[in-house]
Amino acid sequence: MVVGAGIAGLACARLLIERGLDVRVLERGEVPGGRLASPEVDGRPVDLGAAYFTVSDPAFGTVVAGWHERGLVRPWTSRFAVYGPSPHSPDSPGPQRWSAPGGLGSLAADLAAGLPVEYGVAVRDLAGLGDARVVLAMPAPQAAAVHRPAAAVAVDQDWQPSLAVALRYPARCWPDFAGAFVNDHPVLITVCDDGDRRGDRAPVLVAHTTPGYAWEDAAAQVEAAVREVLHLPSAGAVAAVRRWPHARPAHPYSSGFASVEGVLLAGDGFGRPRVEAAWHSGRAAGREISGKISGTESAKKPSTGDAPR
Ligand SMILES: Cc1cc2nc3c(=O)[nH]c(=O)nc-3n(C[C@H](O)[C@H](O)[C@H](O)COP(=O)(O)OP(=O)(O)OC[C@H]3O[C@@H](n4cnc5c(N)ncnc54)[C@H](O)[C@@H]3O)c2cc1C
Repeated sequence: MVVGAGIAGLACARLLIERGLDVRVLERGEVPGGRLASPEVDGRPVDLGAAYFTVSDPAFGTVVAGWHERGLVRPWTSRFAVYGPSPHSPDSPGPQRWSAPGGLGSLAADLAAGLPVEYGVAVRDLAGLGDARVVLAMPAPQAAAVHRPAAAVAVDQDWQPSLAVALRYPARCWPDFAGAFVNDHPVLITVCDDGDRRGDRAPVLVAHTTPGYAWEDAAAQVEAAVREVLHLPSAGAVAAVRRWPHARPAHPYSSGFASVEGVLLAGDGFGRPRVEAAWHSGRAAGREISGKISGTESAKKPSTGDAPR
């Protein structure tokens, strides 16, 4: 049983199915993806959760290559601008950042295709889930609401909130950049050009806030901060706002997953808190379960000499 149809839960469920095991996925939302969230705003998808993803490992690279072949992802940029207390710094070269023309949520939908995902099911506790092995594939504070012993992990990992604000402009009116890190700013962490990311050049920016400005009513302050940092000539209209109470852990574990009183916890709290780490964590939890089950099966299996007559 996998609870959570974010990328970790979906990766876990896919591995279990590849290994011939029965799986059910329960998701409280109406769509898959969790923090891979690309709701439609003004007739086009806008990434309000993860801004992009990177690839460092060949196994995840294979999945991404398949998406690329099918036109689901595109290499976006390896350069992000850096704004900070000192004047506008030169672009910062970094890893290849990937985006999705249909929004990153479309990748979760692709992973979910064909999986037995039950949407609109908010799991409140473990009672009623039967005796199946359970993977809680979600931020630890959410896991703790289902399985209290996970609270210790939640406290330890110290999850931080963030507010995502999509801003629409009459026309593109900013310096030519794909995205920017904003260093040491009270309000902003990143600003991304969603039109550049999507490839349609729509005049839309998405800003993510520091934990201190992760409250629903902060959109006006976010708009003003974006205008000031990018020296924009006019104000943007707030097109969408999404608060993430558990955006990222300050102190993720590096263990791949955790086992807490018989329940597995998976997600980006168990690696570098990124899309790729969540995928790996889900796979690692799936391998743990399938390994245990095949171990139990072979222990149960009679040896040749004991074969029933
Ligand atoms: C603002 C923001 C910006 C980010 N930017 C980047 C970035 O640029 N690059 C990058 O790589 N990563 C980024 N990330 C991180 C990335 O989004 C995550 O690492 C990844 O999506 C985590 O996936 P997950 O499956 O672990 O968790 P989630 O996506 O959170 O999935 C958990 C799922 O569990 C479900 N759930 C929770 N509780 C229950 C319950 N009781 N019953 C049923 N279902 C439940 C939730 O609805 C959700 O669908 C960003 C995240 C945020 C919030």
